[in-house]
Amino acid sequence: MGNMADTRRNTWGAKLKRTLTSVLPVASNRKGRCVRCGACCKLPNVCRFLRYDERGKSWCACYWLRPLNCRKYPRTESEWITSDTCGHSFE
Ligand code: SF4
Ligand code: SF4
Repeated sequence: MGNMADTRRNTWGAKLKRTLTSVLPVASNRKGRCVRCGACCKLPNVCRFLRYDERGKSWCACYWLRPLNCRKYPRTESEWITSDTCGHSFE
């Protein structure tokens, strides 16, 4: 499938929930690191600031101003809908 979010859970409602809960801390059981797959910048639609470098790695055109829900994704396992390609995991 590659670089796709869980389509069933990739909704505007889920986005709203991630936004509202983004002030909360990142779950302590989160492991790994961002591998810049870009999948979380397409939830639920492709962000206008999403870019890719020559190696196919994503980057953010407003990195220093990006919102909290971008900075903290995936904040919790229940909000994590890009497990196919994400470099993070939860224990
Ligand atoms: S889905 Fe995970 S690895 Fe991919 S860009 Fe988002 S945080 Fe990084
Ligand atoms: S603002 Fe940046 S980090 Fe947030 S979704 Fe858009 S491209 Fe991704």
